[in-house]
Amino acid sequence: MEDIAPDLLLRIRASFQKRMEESSQIQSLLERIQSGGGTYGDAQNYAYQIGQALSQALGENLSSAVLPDGRMYYNIASRVLEPLLEEDHSIVSQAAKLVQQSLNQKAGIGIQAQTVPVNADRIAGIVDKISNGESFEDVAWVLDEPIKNFSMNVVDETIRQNVNFQGKSGLRPKVIRKSERKCCPWCSNLAGEYEYPDVPDDVYRRHENCRCTVEYDPGSGKRQNVHTKKWTTDGQRDMIEERKQIGLTSTDIFRPKDYQITIGAYVKLNSLELLEKAKAGKRHSHAGVYRDAVGKSKKQLQKSIISRTAQIERHADKIQNPESYVPDWKEKSSAYQEGLIRKWEKDMRRNAEQAEIELAVFEEMYGI
Ligand SMILES: [Zn+2]
Repeated sequence: MEDIAPDLLLRIRASFQKRMEESSQIQSLLERIQSGGGTYGDAQNYAYQIGQALSQALGENLSSAVLPDGRMYYNIASRVLEPLLEEDHSIVSQAAKLVQQSLNQKAGIGIQAQTVPVNADRIAGIVDKISNGESFEDVAWVLDEPIKNFSMNVVDETIRQNVNFQGKSGLRPKVIRKSERKCCPWCSNLAGEYEYPDVPDDVYRRHENCRCTVEYDPGSGKRQNVHTKKWTTDGQRDMIEERKQIGLTSTDIFRPKDYQITIGAYVKLNSLELLEKAKAGKRHSHAGVYRDAVGKSKKQLQKSIISRTAQIERHADKIQNPESYVPDWKEKSSAYQEGLIRKWEKDMRRNAEQAEIELAVFEEMYGI
């Protein structure tokens, strides 16, 4: 028997390409998304159109007449549908990533847009369904709405991935689900605004024929310090920078209280406890930092506190703008990114503890 799969794939792919190129809706959505002005609503619409183009390309080339025994055998279905659905995924995923990237940029969020891997389970499900019919005509419906749904799901999952990733790194993004009029009671009930981590899984789900929109919102776009639960704002950073400049140029107006406030904005510490442990020489207590601090001159102590505070700020900036410090940050895996952010947070905390001890020594010796 002649193997028709390779030729079918070629013809469907050519038709899919042509439909995408000739669709003014697809092209104008793509233009908006590429120019940085796209929303997730646009990406969802784009995904729907891409899914529709694929669905039509399949419909145009597949029928009982061209298939052996008038049915879609598994080995044809898998070799034709898998690569095409993967292609759909990659086209839509790229657009969703661009949308997220521009939203991050607008919110001043220095976190790279995340993408999702292709959903092999869903592809397997579609291939199974289409190859389960006695005749192709019985199962042809699988190539319509389920394909569009597959395509739109890529966008929904991209939102989920980005919201969770940003949430884990201290941001509080939101998801806004809007129900398309007359969608269904389930969707009406689900419509609303949700803030990470209180986003139910269903918010990212889409039943067949559902055209509801799911939008990402950066929230305040500010990172919540995991220790202090305080927001770090740009304004606050500017003030800190100014204080640091004053501190560095003239030690005469060095005010320990200012540095405590600065450090406290980033890391919450129990300075009394830190100092007591260091004095007692407890393990992991920065006892060495305490001994050194006591032996330092006033000027040396001020310098050390200023320098440690600058370190804290540098780490805070790294956490907020990792791509400015790590080449190819966006190419790194999520595990790598999260690991490095955790390391910076640890370094920031260590510097803060050491600065607090020096500040305590400074206070004891020279007053506030
Ligand atoms: Zn709906």
